[in-house]
Amino acid sequence: MVSYPAMGTPHSVFAEEYLPRDTADVVRTVRDSRDRAERLTVRGGEQTEESYGLPDQQAVLSLRKMNAVLDINLGRRTVRVQAGAKLSDIDRRLGAHGLGLPVVGDHRDITAGGFASVGGVSTASHRYGMFIDQISDLEYVDTDGRLGTCGRTHHTERFHRILGAGGRAGIITALTLDVVEVDKDHTWLTSDSDRFLDFDSFVEHATTEIANPGSAALQVGRWVDTAPLKVARPVGTGQVTLGAVRFGQWSSLYPTAPTRGLRARREVGSRTRKSLGAIASAAGGRAGMPVRNAAAGALMFAPKVLTIRDAEYLADTVISSSERGPAYRVAVFAPLSNYSAVFYGLHDLFAGHRERTGCFTVISAMTYGVRSAYLRAEAAARGLAPADYGLISFTCRLRPSALPSEQLRDIVSSIDDLCRGEHALRYSGELPLGNVNG
Ligand SMILES: Cc1cc2nc3c(=O)[nH]c(=O)nc-3n(C[C@H](O)[C@H](O)[C@H](O)COP(=O)(O)OP(=O)(O)OC[C@H]3O[C@@H](n4cnc5c(N)ncnc54)[C@H](O)[C@@H]3O)c2cc1C
Repeated sequence: MVSYPAMGTPHSVFAEEYLPRDTADVVRTVRDSRDRAERLTVRGGEQTEESYGLPDQQAVLSLRKMNAVLDINLGRRTVRVQAGAKLSDIDRRLGAHGLGLPVVGDHRDITAGGFASVGGVSTASHRYGMFIDQISDLEYVDTDGRLGTCGRTHHTERFHRILGAGGRAGIITALTLDVVEVDKDHTWLTSDSDRFLDFDSFVEHATTEIANPGSAALQVGRWVDTAPLKVARPVGTGQVTLGAVRFGQWSSLYPTAPTRGLRARREVGSRTRKSLGAIASAAGGRAGMPVRNAAAGALMFAPKVLTIRDAEYLADTVISSSERGPAYRVAVFAPLSNYSAVFYGLHDLFAGHRERTGCFTVISAMTYGVRSAYLRAEAAARGLAPADYGLISFTCRLRPSALPSEQLRDIVSSIDDLCRGEHALRYSGELPLGNVNG
């Protein structure tokens, strides 16, 4: 166990961090904490800023030392890992055998247990579904410190309770994952992109591509809508209002044969992205906002050619630094039959609030298809017709302290009404993705 000074508190109170090395350690830690009536928060990897200064100075159990790849079964095409193993490390080990994980998160530090606990979608989800669709069984320690196993074919109810539960239904300690035959470093993709200046054409195009992805290996649509920008002139000369910018891009990425020319273009593209990422990381505070926005914008203009590995971690090189600042985020799985109604509903809700109260600045959306056995089962369990879905996620940048709690409640209940009316599923409604993040 190590202790960290709790940040964000006026006094130096210490939050405990437990670092178990194996499942028996997890069992002991959970039982001891229960006996001390200490509340434990589970973390996949490193402590993030959010983990410091948790409410009531909660103790943290991090699985980052439980990061082994335990077994790669070539015949069954599965991999068994400890829950703290990073997906990028697992993928690197699988790569040596011509195998890979079909769905990974958009940055390199995500752990298997952490991703299983949120569900996990990616730009390959139109083919492979969610990360949790790839899990065949898992080992866990429940909140009373009891060890158990469950999977697709045994203790299925428990299995579904733990997946996507954000750590509230027990601590996942090991998982077996299905893998696919793929060479992520040498499979080249070329991106076929369409750009749009109006929302209607963007949504229409996204609807068609999600319903008929053809042989696309990856797909993603992004829409950005800025509020009119006011730029202060030197003292005494007033303000200039720049126009609002609204544009969207849909990209479908298809496998292609590598040529020398393509390799050279990829090299230039990846160097440019890394430089943009470095510049954006260095650009702090309000003054750095335009640079960070430019870095985020660069994602819209992803390179024409890249490997699967590059494409999976494209966001990792530029976006994280541009994601600073308070924002309201929500993600919804819309059944394909109601996809455009949900997209318009969410867009109009956020644009309307921005127009009336000025609470948001930039409103952006990301979307792609999700064909998931887990979601179909989830829909059936709620009495809804199982369907294929389009994920629609919105990020609305907040003007500081411009979203009072009554307005937030209003927004949340409008989203819930929309989901109910259109049979859409909220992505982890109780988790931070559905709340205001700082
Ligand atoms: C609701 C939500 C959905 C997200 N969806 C995506 C996505 O689809 N694609 C993407 O690229 N990024 C997504 N993210 C962002 C981020 O990639 C994920 O949060 C990712 O799971 C972080 O991985 P981590 O290993 O650092 O986990 P952490 O950030 O440490 O934990 C994530 C959640 O999982 C719990 N948890 C962690 N490890 C375990 C474990 N072993 N057993 C039980 N619970 C555990 C934590 O308590 C926490 O609730 C999402 C974030 C949230 C909050």
